[in-house]
Amino acid sequence: MTDDTLKQELSALREQINYHNYLYNTLDQPEISDAAYDQLFNRLKQIEAQHPDWITPDSPTQRVGAVISDRFRKVVHPAPIFSLANGFGAQETRDWYQRILRLDPRVADAQYLLEPKLDGLSVILTYERGRFVLGATRGDGTVGEDITENLRTLRTLPMRIPVRGDGLPPERLVVRGEVFITKADFERLNEDLESQGERTYLNPRNTAAGSLRQLDPAITARRPLRLYVYQVLESSDTPPETQAKLLNWLEGWGFPVNPKRWLAQNIDQAVQICEDEGLNRHGWPYEADGIVIKLNDLALSRSLGFVGKDPRGALAFKYPGQEVETVLTEIRTNVGRTGVLTPLAILQPVNIGGVIVKQATLHNYDFIQDKDIRVGDHVLVKRAGEVIPYILASLPQKRDGSEVPYEVPAHCPSCGSEVEKVPGEVAYYCVNSACPEQLSRNLEHFASRSAMEIEGLGAQIVQQLVDAGLVHSAADLYRLKADDLLKLDKFGKKKTDNLLAAIEASRLQPLERLIIGLGIRSIGDVGARKLTEHFRDLDALSRATHDELQGVEGVGPNTANEIVDWFAQAGNQQLIADFRDLGIWPVAEAPQDKSNLPLNGLTFVITGTLPTLSRSDAEAFILSKGGSVTGSVSKKTSYLVLGAEAGSKFAKAQALGIPILDEAALLELAA
Ligand SMILES: [Zn+2]
Repeated sequence: MTDDTLKQELSALREQINYHNYLYNTLDQPEISDAAYDQLFNRLKQIEAQHPDWITPDSPTQRVGAVISDRFRKVVHPAPIFSLANGFGAQETRDWYQRILRLDPRVADAQYLLEPKLDGLSVILTYERGRFVLGATRGDGTVGEDITENLRTLRTLPMRIPVRGDGLPPERLVVRGEVFITKADFERLNEDLESQGERTYLNPRNTAAGSLRQLDPAITARRPLRLYVYQVLESSDTPPETQAKLLNWLEGWGFPVNPKRWLAQNIDQAVQICEDEGLNRHGWPYEADGIVIKLNDLALSRSLGFVGKDPRGALAFKYPGQEVETVLTEIRTNVGRTGVLTPLAILQPVNIGGVIVKQATLHNYDFIQDKDIRVGDHVLVKRAGEVIPYILASLPQKRDGSEVPYEVPAHCPSCGSEVEKVPGEVAYYCVNSACPEQLSRNLEHFASRSAMEIEGLGAQIVQQLVDAGLVHSAADLYRLKADDLLKLDKFGKKKTDNLLAAIEASRLQPLERLIIGLGIRSIGDVGARKLTEHFRDLDALSRATHDELQGVEGVGPNTANEIVDWFAQAGNQQLIADFRDLGIWPVAEAPQDKSNLPLNGLTFVITGTLPTLSRSDAEAFILSKGGSVTGSVSKKTSYLVLGAEAGSKFAKAQALGIPILDEAALLELAA
């Protein structure tokens, strides 16, 4: 094949892949199977591998680029990026209407285009000859930061326009959009982070903002960021003259545009829509704190000019009740499984959107210091969707002098031991392994489905056992007697027998489950399995040195430290000795010769729910066929096994061009 025909194929492939990405990610209407998509993608990678000099930044293979050196370049926007005036409720909206009507009588006959006001991060995207060349944050409205590499990782951001069909895009086009995270994706992300022992995020908006400002685009690529575009800042062609047509025009080029939008024939209708939608908005997939009302006639809107930084032709109809003021009466401290202390705000009960809120998260102790939140302060509390209510800020202007500045507790509220802070970390810890509250959290974890899977042993029963002094460590669970349990509140014969049977059954769990159950920080299911492959019982693992541990795939210096520290503690050594005495001593089988197995040397990541195999069955199957399973997608991943309701791993795999298998294809591959 000549270079010319190969180049033609390359450009056709890129066009097709961009098109199918768009169908899949933006429209959610794929036309081809994942396998067919993979074929296109792999062919493109193949050609680019042979001709690295042909790789261009807008190639679909280049979604995850290089790490940004140390900070973001400043970018001057082609036009100032304006904010919006707020209107609370119908009256303020009508006041706004009256003001602009006085300026221009044409407003009397005007239509309005309404769009949800997403709570995300504004971005400015520049296209030259249809290619995405620059992406920036809003910054101060005049100067933003160049986050092009991070924005490239967004699956719905077109790298080239038009995505489909022909038609020549404007020579130069600058658009504004909002990057956001859906409520469902946010929950899933936090669950993932929590299961990996990592710190979770406070709310979708901060997560989106933080993700876009990562210096390593690979991290951004792992965040489930989405984009809606809604404004043209500059165009070398004349864009349509109404907001409704403009949004259709943007959609026509392949930009993701929020399908939720309304055209109101007059201000009464606009207000009506805002009020009606206010009741629905908790069901929207993303956080939105209002609806933007724009004059549909963009020329009329421009002619009205500005008040300060706000264009007169648009108004944010803000919903009340999302953020409410109340008094913070107390800051309590929760003790987590690993001993990490987290502050919890106790509030004067307050109604937020129909729900009585009595507690809110304060995130961490730095947050309390940074925001100077004091006990007795009036505070702003926000509740959005299913996210736990959280404190936004205190209102120092309302202080009467009785407020007490908060100090991080010096002692654990549960056991009284001295609190420690790890240098370089935000968190404070209770390091007493016998701490009752830690013990409760640890036992819950030990019994959880990902660890020893002791059915029926939930938070409440754990608390009962700890309070009654029946259990001082996970090993004590195996020493429980029926007589002890029968004395407890609400424990009949059946419940007692069932619990003892479930505990007994857990003795047969394999070593990796027991390792997970120990609750060593940073050790999740993947880490536990890797450790099991190297160290075949708890004895060997407990003797492992830093160097040996770091020789295990996926174990870095921090994790190695956590493991060594854990086993160095006397209480933990006692626990291991107890397990041995009790005969809870699983030994991993010697690694067999895998070279003849069909999946030898292949690394899999599983995401979503598979039709017949459970997650652990699928993992066991892959292992039995010589493959390995890891928790996160990287360039080293051979295949992503994709089930229903997949999360961010799917996007990441696509971004990296990792081939994707469904369950049937996995079984076939291993046959
Ligand atoms: Zn404690």
